[in-house]
Amino acid sequence: MREEVGLGSAVDQVVERVEVRAAETAEVRAPHTQRVNRVVEPGGCPPHGGRLIDRRLRGAALESARQEAATLPALVIDQDQVVTLEMIATGVLSPLEGFMGEDNYRSVLHEKRLASGLPWTIPMTLAPAGELNRAVTARLGRGDRVALADQSGHRWAVLTVTEKFTYDRDERAVQVFATDERRHPGVDYIHRRMGDTCLAGPIDLLERPDWGPFEKYRLEPVDTRRVFFEERGWRTVVGFQTANPLHRGHEYLQKCALEIIDGLFIHPIVETTRKAYFRNEYRIEAYKAALDNYYPADRVVLAPLRVTMTYAGPREAILHAIVRKNFGCTHFIVGRDHAGFGGYYDKYAAWRIFDEYDQAELGIQPLFFRDSFYCTRCGTVATEKTCPHGEEYHLTMSGTGVQDILRYGYLPPKEILRPEVGQVIIQGIQPKGTDADGAGDIAGSATAPAAATGVAGITGAAGGTGGSNSTTDANGSVSTVSTGDGQAIKPVADTIKGLFPYYLTHHRLGGKRRRRRLDPAELTMRDLEAALAEGRERAGEVYQEVFEAVAGLFDIARAADRGGRIAALREALRRQKELITALEEKVRVAQEEVPDPFMFQDRPEAQRELDSAREIAREIAGLAERDPDFKARVWNPMPYEEYRR
Ligand SMILES: [Zn+2]
Repeated sequence: MREEVGLGSAVDQVVERVEVRAAETAEVRAPHTQRVNRVVEPGGCPPHGGRLIDRRLRGAALESARQEAATLPALVIDQDQVVTLEMIATGVLSPLEGFMGEDNYRSVLHEKRLASGLPWTIPMTLAPAGELNRAVTARLGRGDRVALADQSGHRWAVLTVTEKFTYDRDERAVQVFATDERRHPGVDYIHRRMGDTCLAGPIDLLERPDWGPFEKYRLEPVDTRRVFFEERGWRTVVGFQTANPLHRGHEYLQKCALEIIDGLFIHPIVETTRKAYFRNEYRIEAYKAALDNYYPADRVVLAPLRVTMTYAGPREAILHAIVRKNFGCTHFIVGRDHAGFGGYYDKYAAWRIFDEYDQAELGIQPLFFRDSFYCTRCGTVATEKTCPHGEEYHLTMSGTGVQDILRYGYLPPKEILRPEVGQVIIQGIQPKGTDADGAGDIAGSATAPAAATGVAGITGAAGGTGGSNSTTDANGSVSTVSTGDGQAIKPVADTIKGLFPYYLTHHRLGGKRRRRRLDPAELTMRDLEAALAEGRERAGEVYQEVFEAVAGLFDIARAADRGGRIAALREALRRQKELITALEEKVRVAQEEVPDPFMFQDRPEAQRELDSAREIAREIAGLAERDPDFKARVWNPMPYEEYRR
């Protein structure tokens, strides 16, 4: 590779020391460990390309480079490229030591590999846009050094130019994003933010950007490798990436993975290009709330990741796996439509692309998980692979559905989102409420907009869309709600379909089918509230009812009945017997024929009523009085004492 120059010897020593330490630790531990999981060599999986790259300058080298950088011409780079500089310098993108030359660029574009043959899917190039950058670039030649500065003029790194080359924007877009439409944010970036000429060469980082609120959680590959393999003694680690708050579906698949893998590395992205979102600090705090309450502390490591999403779908899934490999992960969870955008990629494309590589050359094992849901009939989180029941039983785990319902001011059912997570994340939603002037806040415009202060709007339900009406809540207080369009970014029907698929076709969760499917265009806030109330109340009941019905029939020790059911049945039987006595008297006095059947009943009709009442009594008695001392059910072929020996 032309642009990749050798590492400094100091860096080599650092990397070697880490590897030796890890190996020693594993050797020392080995005799004491009971582990059976020996899939991976002690010390975890090696970084991509074999060595962890470190392009940070330190000590005297840093001092002289700083002085030199002040005198160098500078290229102005954007925030995304500052993030990329840090990733390269800290080994996140190992084996890259800088920006790609043409050989690697073309190979990545067309072969999904570096020129060396190593798997790689996203071109990492530097093509600064703008007139000033163009002028600086024009003067640069092979061997020249140039400072890389942000828009404020702060110099973050020095690039040693090994090569300049031009490229075709449309070719790049079509190869990487499978489209040349400007609507795709990755394609748009190529046209709007990239210049005509790429500069290749290794970089030296002068200074690492501060991560602000995430600085205290920040871990580099060299840190995670130490934590995973030396401190925790794990042999296998599964990486999990998300840009959403942790819902029960995430928890389910993380824990499925954790059943067979030693450790879980939760690695949420805190850099995003999306606008409607959860504030990053709240997402991290929400993860902590979940970990504190529902995960064993010695099995999980949480760290944020700064990476710019390009929405390259399958190609980005491979890059994300390689990034996790560099952090030390042996496994990586890949969801459907990983890093997808607006339907540009087939839902399973991000899984299929892994078939293009040998497991050994990729060096990290992908774990493919389907979309999960809470099945009220199974009584557990499940996927279409593990649950046989229809959608009428399901609460869907939808990241956007959760987002929308929080924006409306409600926590979703606990089967979808842990309340501890909800508490934190509802305060960090962006934008808050449902429209600009707060008119759509369902908590009521007369009072402080509850959704905007992050408190769930529990009083005053909004009416239909586009209307204004008064509602009375459970406490009797009235709030007048002007709903505006009453929508939280997306139509209310999308939120209902996204979380409560039963609602369009069934009256209740797992209940009767509606005579006609509801028209999504007619759904209002009332429907969302009804669907939510049913989800909250019934999610835990559907399976419980099945259980109680069976237990009520087959419990031998009736003491397990808390008294209510059998007592109520006996009372119903007593009432039924009283009714039968009255009906018997009626039969006794009835005439054989009557002049007006609307006013009087003849004897055959009275007898029919009596027969029916007796039949019902037999049914109740069967439930209430069957085999009260279990004689028919409890027997042993040998004396009981025989079984005790
Ligand atoms: Zn099920």
